Formats: sequence, C-alpha cells, structure tokens
Amino acid sequence: MLVTMRRRVRFLVRMALQSLMQDRRCPNCDCPFTAKAGRKWGLMQVRRCYRCGLMFRWPKDSLKFNLNYYQRRYVEAIATDAPDQVESARLVAWGQGKVNLLRGLVAPGARVLDFGCSWGYNAHLLRGLGYPVVGFEISRPRAAFGRRHFGLEILDAYDRLHQLPGGSFDAIFASHVLEHLPRIDGVLSEFARLVRPEGVVLILVPNCGDGRGGLRVGWKPIVGEKHPMAFDCRFFEIALPRYGFQPLVTTGMEDYEAIQAFLTHANQERARDQAELVVLARRVVQVSGAPPRKQASEQVEAVNGRAAARFALPGRHANAVEP
Ligand SMILES: [Zn+2]
Repeated sequence: MLVTMRRRVRFLVRMALQSLMQDRRCPNCDCPFTAKAGRKWGLMQVRRCYRCGLMFRWPKDSLKFNLNYYQRRYVEAIATDAPDQVESARLVAWGQGKVNLLRGLVAPGARVLDFGCSWGYNAHLLRGLGYPVVGFEISRPRAAFGRRHFGLEILDAYDRLHQLPGGSFDAIFASHVLEHLPRIDGVLSEFARLVRPEGVVLILVPNCGDGRGGLRVGWKPIVGEKHPMAFDCRFFEIALPRYGFQPLVTTGMEDYEAIQAFLTHANQERARDQAELVVLARRVVQVSGAPPRKQASEQVEAVNGRAAARFALPGRHANAVEP
C-alpha cells in the first residue's frame, strides 16, 4: 500500500513537472487540436484528438523516459514475475478464447506474429492450433522465458522486427499491449508493412469507450502511469483505414463465441459496454487499375521513415492481466 502510494506520488510529481513544458499534440497523428475529456488524480488529463479520435494521457511520457522506465521494470521482472503453476493455468485460460478468435479469421498454417507476446502463453496456444508463430516481446526476461519453456521463436528488439521482410505474416495478434505504448503510429504502420495484403490483425485492448449498455467502463479506471493510451471503437474505426486496414469488427463484446457468430453470420448487433475491446481488421488489397494514388506502401514508408525513431523505442508488453 505504502509502495503504491509512494509510486503514485512520484508519478504525479513527474506529471506536474512535465505539464509545465509539454505540448498537447496527439501522440498518434501529431494533430495540435486535442480536447480535454476529463481529469484524474487532480492534474492528469485525458485528452482526445479531434483528428484521429485517440484518447491519451497528458502529460505524455517522453520516449526517453519510457525507455528507462520499462528497462527498469524488466530488470525487476526477472526475479519477481515468472508465472507459477496457478498463474500459468490462469494465463492459458485467459488466452484460450482470444486465440480461438483468430481461427475464425485465418486457417491453421497461417503465419502469425504475436506482438507483445509476454511470457509466450498465447503464442504457445496458437502454435498448438497449427499456426507457425513468431513472438515479439520487448521484455527480455519474458522473451527468454517463452523460448526456454515453450521453445518459441521470440524477437526481443524492434530492430529485429524491422528487418523482417514486408508481408511476412498472414495475421498479427496483439493482446493487451497497445495501451502501454507511448506512441501508436509507428506500430500501426509496422503492422501494415508486416501483414500481407488480405491478412488480418486482431487487437485486444481495454475498452475505454463510454459504455452504451451496462458497465460504462470509460477511460478512468484504465489510464494512468502504465497506460498512456485509452482506446475506444471510434479510434480504430478512424485510424485503421489510414494505415491500409479495413476494420471488420470493433466491439466491446467479451463473448468470443458471439464474435465468431458476428464474423460468420453477419450479426450486426454491437455491444460496446464490456471491459475488453476486440478489433479485427483486414489489410486492404490494392485493386489493380485503380487510379494511381500515392500510397499504401509509399505512405507506409513515409510514416515509417517519420516514425522510425519513435518506433525503435520500446513499448511495453506487459503482464497481460493488470488493467
Ligand atoms: Zn490524432
């Protein structure tokens, strides 16, 4: 309790200092027009970008700070966090429904990138279902755990990811990682590069929508020190097409079978009031004969070029569990 308090005070002091000199631009699209959506703990704001709809914590973290912060945490994690038997069982149960979702999208044999694979449980499950999987995990102890315990191929540096040829994967699976990243643009453009045309991405994040039904989850319980990003359906529906993805499903349903039904039977009903946001999107194929636009690959290259430095810094994956 005392440790938590001390940590929060440290965080708030840092926020206070950063608020003195920091711009309020969107950390996805750099749009200068963002509006305050609310406050938490006095001085921390959640702002929403007018252009891309992203909700983000302000003050933002500098990339340098983020790098140091997570490297420290990773070091701590070596000794403290390796899952015991109970935790293992829980992680497997937690991942099962999520990886099953991917089966509704791509047949076994499809090459999958598990982006932010943490200890490797989901990647292990995916491989068990017949998918050749490559994991990506910035936390070296977690990546090492996955290699050691499951014999998985896990990349642990952004450079390694950048070296993979474009279109290396049929699907990208990113479960509870994007909300930890200091920026999102470089990641989405890298997804667009790595997944082949017509390939899919499956993104799971905490649902920070306003909740149109029961739970009214919203951003408040989610945004804080570890989560500088707050996502809702609207953001993905606006942002993904800009990176060459067609959103198929953006929903707060947690009933994975219902989502399967949505995929197969075109059940258009949407429920956006659960704690987890599920986003499925397909990489758009460029139609030959279409008027020449400056695009997909060129745009992605441009974004990549601009974002390379940002993206080369770590996001964090995380212990899949904490909100
Ligand atoms: Zn924006």
